[in-house]
Amino acid sequence: MSKTAIVTGGSRGIGKEICLRLAKDGFNIVTCCTGDASKADATINACKEFGVDAMAVAADVSNAEDVQKIFDAAKEKFGSVEVLVNNAGITKDNLMLRMTEDDFMKVLDVNLKSAFLTCKVATKDMMRAKYGRIINISSVVGLMGNAGQANYSASKAGLIGFTKSLAKEFGAKGITVNAVAPGFIETEMTDALPEDVKANYMTQIPRKRLGADIAAAVSFLASDDADYITGQVLSVDGGMRM
Ligand code: NAP
Repeated sequence: MSKTAIVTGGSRGIGKEICLRLAKDGFNIVTCCTGDASKADATINACKEFGVDAMAVAADVSNAEDVQKIFDAAKEKFGSVEVLVNNAGITKDNLMLRMTEDDFMKVLDVNLKSAFLTCKVATKDMMRAKYGRIINISSVVGLMGNAGQANYSASKAGLIGFTKSLAKEFGAKGITVNAVAPGFIETEMTDALPEDVKANYMTQIPRKRLGADIAAAVSFLASDDADYITGQVLSVDGGMRM
C-alpha cells in the first residue's frame, strides 16, 4: 500500500527537493504554500513523473483552519498520512534593537506555531495507526544563534525542544519525531543574503561548499530503516557546527 507525505512549503527550495525525493521513494505527496500556486503546481507535476500522485493546497501553516484544510484534503484523496515534514519557514532579519514585535511574532508563528498546529492534527491519526514519521526542518542557527536573527533562531531552537518533547510523548505509539538542521543551503532564502555575509559563512564551513543534501536526510528519517531513531537533530551543514 502506498504511503502519503505532507511536506509544507514545497513550492520551491528545500521543500520542493524534499517533495521530489519522497515522491521518488514512492510516497504520494501533499504540499502547500501561500504564494504563487503555479510554482506548487510545478512541484506536483514533477512528483507525478515518479509515478505517484500529488496535490497542492493553498494554505498558510500558521493558521489552524488552513492546516486542517491540508489534512482534510490529504485524507480525502489518499486516506491517511504517514509522514509529515514541517518545512515551511520564513525570515524577517534585523538586529535586536530594530526588530519589531510584529516581525518577531510572525517568524515564530510561521516557523514554530505551525509545527504545533500540524502535529496536533497529524498525531491523532498516526496514534490510531500506531505509525508515523514527523520531521521538523530546524536550522544550524537554532543550535548556534546568529546576530540579526533573534526571531528566526528562537523559532528554530524552539522546534528542537518541540521535537524532543513529542519524541518522548509519542515514542511508544510508533511515531518517531526528529529534526534536520540544515546549514547554508543554496535556495532563494540564502540567495537574498548580501555577498559579504555569504563569504563569511563560507569561512565557517569545513566542506567549503553550499549544501544541497537535505532531502536525502529527510528520506532516511522517513524510512522504515530509521525506526529506532527519534528525538534527534541531524545536522546537514558541511561541518559548520560540531
Ligand atoms: P524558501 O526557498 O523561502 O521556501 C520556503 C517555502 O515555504 C516556500 O514554498 C514558501 O511558499 C513556503 N511558505 C512560507 N511561508 C509559508 C506559510 N505561512 N504557509 C505555507 N507555506 C509557507 O526557503 P528554503 O530555503 O527552502 O527553506 C526551507 C526550510 O529550511 C525553512 O524552514 C528554512 O528555515 C529552513 N532552512 C533553510 C536554510 C537555507 O540555507 N536555505 C538553512 C537552514 C534552514 P510561499 O512563500 O508561497 O508561501
